[in-house]
Amino acid sequence: MVDVVAPQAVPGASGPPLAELGLPRVPGLRAGPLSGLSPSRAADFMTCPLLFRFRTVDRLPEPPSAAAARGTLVHGVLEHLFDLDAVERTPDRAAAMLPETWDGLVAVEPELAELAGEPGEDRDAWFAAAADLLDRYFLLEDPSRLQPAERELYVETELDGGLRLRGYVDRLDIAPGGDLRVVDYKTGRAPGVGYEAKAMFQMRFYALVLWKLRGVVPRLLQLVYLGSGEVLRYEPDEADLRATERKVVAIWHAIERAHEQRDWRPSPSRLCDWCAHHAICPAFGGTPPPLPVEVGSVDETPAEVEQVERSG
Ligand code: SF4
Repeated sequence: MVDVVAPQAVPGASGPPLAELGLPRVPGLRAGPLSGLSPSRAADFMTCPLLFRFRTVDRLPEPPSAAAARGTLVHGVLEHLFDLDAVERTPDRAAAMLPETWDGLVAVEPELAELAGEPGEDRDAWFAAAADLLDRYFLLEDPSRLQPAERELYVETELDGGLRLRGYVDRLDIAPGGDLRVVDYKTGRAPGVGYEAKAMFQMRFYALVLWKLRGVVPRLLQLVYLGSGEVLRYEPDEADLRATERKVVAIWHAIERAHEQRDWRPSPSRLCDWCAHHAICPAFGGTPPPLPVEVGSVDETPAEVEQVERSG
């Protein structure tokens, strides 16, 4: 199990307050192409500006994935598990919730139905893999001893310059003394050594939003990796969250600059293995489609934010 990660500076975001950095608090930027940012889209831009462009400017479709659908299903069960009385929150009961939760998801999005099983993987195996993820959850936490304050909580706040930060928090626990614990479930494996801080960016982002909304710095950020049965924990402080704010604003300005200059560069990395756009990426010999002459808002809707953040 990865244990508590010592607080550390967010790369590229340490230093003086924004006003002293010369970063403009440009009035009216909300009228620009990007007035809101989720952690997923910010991470896209940090990973590869061209990937950000394909997803948010061109809005190119990406093939739906059985793994992402299974992630959505497991998130759904873990959300509704806490509707049950504490003594009923058992591994067997959670596994029994899989079919009904899946039916509920398919009723809302019928196109999900064909994702229950990779090509070559039967439907039973696909559900069994989801049940394995739930079993692993019970090795990490005892849900009968928890009563979350919030589940699937949509959070949104506006920073001084007008940028709106938004996202979905999987679970928020509030201790009797008022301490906040922010929990996010991941159906993949925990990051390797040296990549923990990058994985924690999303949680710092949520902590920043909650701090702005509630005036309290969350006591603990917790990433629960069901794929490998590990938990990554981090205790933020106010300095961390101020650094996160500077970083997010710096990303925002970099996106605005790339948009103005119509310059979205590829940034190849091992994450290209998971990118759906090799055929049109110059790093793989492809040519991107022409940029739209007029690009309107590149904001995500809350529904789009939810779809991306619940599938992880
Ligand atoms: S293949 Fe790699 S470099 Fe190209 S757009 Fe995707 S992430 Fe970026």
